[in-house]
Amino acid sequence: MEKRVWIGIDDTDSRRGGCTTYVGAVLIRRIEDAGYGLDGYPRLIRLNPNCPYKTRGNAAVALPVRADKIELLEDLVFKVIEEYADLDIEGTDPGAIILVGEPSEEIRKYYWHVVRDLSTIEEAEKIALNNETRLLRWNKGRGVIGALAAIGADLTMEKTYELIAHRKKEYWGTVRLVDPKSVWLMNEKTYPLTFDNVDEETGEIRITPHTPCPVLLGIRGVTPSIVEEAYKMLRIYEPVEFYTIFETNQGTDAHLQPMKIADVRENISVIIDGIVKTKPRFTMGGHVFFTLEDETGEITCAAYEPTKSFRHVIVELEPGDRITVYGAVKRKTQAFTLNLEKIHVKSLVELSIVRQPRCPVCRKRMEKINEQGYVCKACKTLSSSQEVIMIRRKISPGIYEVPASARRHLSKPLALSSNYQHC
Ligand SMILES: [Zn+2]
Repeated sequence: MEKRVWIGIDDTDSRRGGCTTYVGAVLIRRIEDAGYGLDGYPRLIRLNPNCPYKTRGNAAVALPVRADKIELLEDLVFKVIEEYADLDIEGTDPGAIILVGEPSEEIRKYYWHVVRDLSTIEEAEKIALNNETRLLRWNKGRGVIGALAAIGADLTMEKTYELIAHRKKEYWGTVRLVDPKSVWLMNEKTYPLTFDNVDEETGEIRITPHTPCPVLLGIRGVTPSIVEEAYKMLRIYEPVEFYTIFETNQGTDAHLQPMKIADVRENISVIIDGIVKTKPRFTMGGHVFFTLEDETGEITCAAYEPTKSFRHVIVELEPGDRITVYGAVKRKTQAFTLNLEKIHVKSLVELSIVRQPRCPVCRKRMEKINEQGYVCKACKTLSSSQEVIMIRRKISPGIYEVPASARRHLSKPLALSSNYQHC
């Protein structure tokens, strides 16, 4: 009798090439050739973007399959990874997990742990064994962490889709032949139901990667139908091996957790409510830094040069402004720095300057005589009221984000935060 089986795969890529999504896409075709089918969308799951071991995007793949012969599936997984993983490259440590049935509460919790924090191979293996999964490992087998987490990923609250088109092998490493004009046109017709297609600020096309990997392009969107519709609008001048629509946790902010400054740790991504303590300043390298405080402590916040126009918002903050910051915590020498991904400006302090008033009688500028008062030199009128000039703030309360070119895969774009429904 056919059962639902989950296959998780991670860490098959290297800095040189390869790609876990390609291994997943090939495996889907092999499973179908064996007479089985997928039981739902394959998953592309992004994990903690601050993981020091990650190759590029820290992505794992999970496939829900209906099958009866588990040994046959295991054999297919083994062969595809042997064939396509970059096994002879230092740092490529593939792992695969096969689970019969649905993931337990323990595996689902493990996903949240791995998307927000760091885990170890030992921790993943212990949970994998507790749950009677089958484990496949190559080299150090670090991929079991992502493979298990991808199976446990909770996409019930929020998810997006990505259509990934893969290239024929003879094209790997060559320039991608996708007409940029067709990408801009597709964006015009489908944004914000698709997102991250282009970077308006830099003029770059964002759907094609710059690495020698087998990915031709990826289109992100809120439904399977919109990414497919968008794909068909593109003009592509090379043969496509195949395309696959993945269900994903990209653009969901799954990596972020609310926290007080005193509890912040290295390599996690946080949301902190606080007050601007120091005036933000540009450094020589074009980065902007300021200090944020809450009732538990203070932390340096950074908007680095690649965040472009986002920095011009940050530099307009003033001490006393109430904000919520979103970003990754990095250790810089002794202290922590928060690399900003997004900021919610909640309230702005009023800025004013005080100067001598004009004389109420003759309109000449008065002069200060002591702490309380002013005198008009011309008509000797006295006055105790100052002239207060309010300075217009250049930013308004609201949410601001880094441009698409600087955004993390997991960060939810503002275009998705607006009030439209998606399934
Ligand atoms: Zn006067």
